[in-house]
Amino acid sequence: MTSSPERTRLAQSDNDIFVALKGEEARQRAELELIPSENYAFPEVLTLLGSAFTNKYSEGYPGRRYYGGQEFTDRIENLARERAKALFRAEHANVQPLSGSPMNQAVYLGLLEPGDTILAMDLSHGGHLTHGAPVSHMGRIFNFVRYKTDPSTGAIDFEALRDVARATKPKLVVCGYSSYPRDYDYADFRRVADEVGALTMADVSHIGGLIAADVMRNPLDAGFDVMTTTTHKSMRGPRGGLILCKEKFAKKIDASVFPGLQGGPHMNQVAATATTLRLAAMPAFQDYARQVLANAKALAAALNVRQVKLVTGGTDNHLLVIDTVQSFGLDGAKAEAALDRVGLTVNKQVIPDDPNPPMRPSGVRLGTPAPTTRGMGHAEMEEIAAIIAETLAAGGDAAAETKLAARTHTLTSRFPVPGL
Ligand SMILES: *Cc1c(COP(=O)(O)O)cnc(C)c1O
Repeated sequence: MTSSPERTRLAQSDNDIFVALKGEEARQRAELELIPSENYAFPEVLTLLGSAFTNKYSEGYPGRRYYGGQEFTDRIENLARERAKALFRAEHANVQPLSGSPMNQAVYLGLLEPGDTILAMDLSHGGHLTHGAPVSHMGRIFNFVRYKTDPSTGAIDFEALRDVARATKPKLVVCGYSSYPRDYDYADFRRVADEVGALTMADVSHIGGLIAADVMRNPLDAGFDVMTTTTHKSMRGPRGGLILCKEKFAKKIDASVFPGLQGGPHMNQVAATATTLRLAAMPAFQDYARQVLANAKALAAALNVRQVKLVTGGTDNHLLVIDTVQSFGLDGAKAEAALDRVGLTVNKQVIPDDPNPPMRPSGVRLGTPAPTTRGMGHAEMEEIAAIIAETLAAGGDAAAETKLAARTHTLTSRFPVPGL
């Protein structure tokens, strides 16, 4: 993709944007992406996102559209739906959500009434903004109540969760996370939800690819009513969302996505989702997913050896959270900036019951999907852990940081980014 007639044309029409594009590509090649929600899309995805499907309006669903000319769009959406159902063992799939946030909004608004109570994970313990953060619109429309992790183990406290459920009688129990480094048994949530008559929803946005590859548990196997996932994180697809549910909720979910919440689906994205689902069903993707988990374990172990304090002590999935205050006396914003200076991209992160504010929290979050996509393995995880620990201990020393940046560069130059 470094030179093509299309790129030459872009350079001529809008050189400002072309220069920024080249800058971003160079940044992605030179730096090491360790943000656990990010990845490098399959090259096929980049092709389809820039394809003719972007020109097409397809409001409605296959066979029931508001516009003509749907022969090929119906074909790709049907393929995407069938592939999603097969891959996740789901009764029904909606592939139109424009991203993760509207995907979750569509579920809440489709299955509940405004004011209904939803039980979801506390944000500082690993939940997501779309699980009812007070700053989100959903947080104003629905009555969100919270469960947390047990401070002594870092695992979800199911006793306390059951107490909150009994006291508040939620209509929906939501599990799923964006910064919880452990796995859990979905049947534990089901039991609580069944006891109080609530529906169950698992938002597996971070680990959708790992569930697709069957290397992490699938909540639908535990009888969950709804599962949502983004397609652009561990799955390497386009930015987008999937809603998978039991057949009995299919009509409500589809009507909630369109016309309830969205207009025309992005058919270039739907095409890319279809291809992603095909690629995610391949043995090569299962190997990739296994390596994502093995790399996370290796990275956690190598950080532990260097006395770096991890929230819950380690990881069962693709992500880990470093308590930078305890480990290095640095807040997460300073740690993020220091790692940025040596070419490692991470994000500052609140830790459970963080005494510090979100813009200056007590930790950073990192994950292995992106480096694993570049082909990195155990030896590289050791080197990354060493660079992280030495950078955060260097106290901003410029000479030390220059040497550490060179080590990052050595690493990234050996592992090209697919598709760039
Ligand atoms: C990323 C994420 C989302 C939202 O996805 P966007 O595409 O950023 O809107 C929702 N839920 C969880 C758990 C996530 O990690």
